[in-house]
Amino acid sequence: MKKASILIIYTGGTIGMRRNANGTLVPFDFNTIEQEFPAVRNLNVDISVCKMEAIDSSNVTPERWSELAHIIADNYANYDGFVVLHGTDTMSYTASALSFMLDNLAKPVIFTGSQIPMGILRTDGRENLITAIEIASATDENGAPMVPEVALYFQNRLFRANRTSKHSAEALSAFESRNLAPLAEVGVNIKYNNTVIYRAAQSNEPLRVFDRMNDKVIVVKLFPGLSCESLRAMLSIEGLQGVVLETFGTGNAPTAKWFVEILQDAISRGIAVVNITQCQGGAVAMNLYETGRQLQDIGVISGYDMTTEAAVTKLMWLLGKGLSGEALAEAMSQTLRGELSN
Ligand code: ASP
Repeated sequence: MKKASILIIYTGGTIGMRRNANGTLVPFDFNTIEQEFPAVRNLNVDISVCKMEAIDSSNVTPERWSELAHIIADNYANYDGFVVLHGTDTMSYTASALSFMLDNLAKPVIFTGSQIPMGILRTDGRENLITAIEIASATDENGAPMVPEVALYFQNRLFRANRTSKHSAEALSAFESRNLAPLAEVGVNIKYNNTVIYRAAQSNEPLRVFDRMNDKVIVVKLFPGLSCESLRAMLSIEGLQGVVLETFGTGNAPTAKWFVEILQDAISRGIAVVNITQCQGGAVAMNLYETGRQLQDIGVISGYDMTTEAAVTKLMWLLGKGLSGEALAEAMSQTLRGELSN
């Protein structure tokens, strides 16, 4: 059987650390992966490694997303799949952003990382890396990739990347996808959930990168006691174009006059306001309660069951494409990469 070729792109984070002879944590050299983990040789894959400047993922910016997207595009024809090693802290943001930026993706792009450095005996990185490689190279009975989308593998579960959030700073199962079942579950075997896996409608079109992300976006998380002055100050930021509003429950917010007026004023200035719930699971349904309906009435856009990570990166991407008004609202409320259940 022909060997699959996989490009590992190392971007930084805990997974890339090992202890040297003096016991200090130093970067792990992924070029020696086959010597370090001979098990990789049993996978029937040819592995190449591309190293970006290694950073802690707290320092990731949209420029980094763009750099990563272009590395994938430049190498797209030469590899069957890609494994991106990334810090866990903002992995869901980068992976969500890539799911939008890579148009017509038809090959696996599997993000993974670890909670414990690679060089520590109890590391979760070894299993995460080896299984991510196996998933990136897996094909069905027709030789087509099993997972032709941007996905995130962590602790025995493969998720659609733009459905994930990092939910634990401690647990080895650090990621959750509360609104979509895993794409695969890993035990003795890897069990793919074929009905959930996303296949781009135009996957025989060439891959294209759209990387003009518009960063004139903020996230506003509601809490009882949020003052009129704070909200007004945030929504008066010069050049602001988009707000991801994290509301209560099914998309509810205070009915206070000042609150509604500040949002209404922002919307009338052309700022897109997207409503997502600050609950971990479930969806916005603005017509359930009066406290949600008033938002709908003033033109707040429903983000349904999108994560914050998906809503922010999708809004940056759509604004970057120049969408506004009705067209933006429509695109935001529709699933474009399987990021919402509507
Ligand atoms: N701070 C690290 C990062 O996100 C944590 C990790 O990799 O898990 O880069």
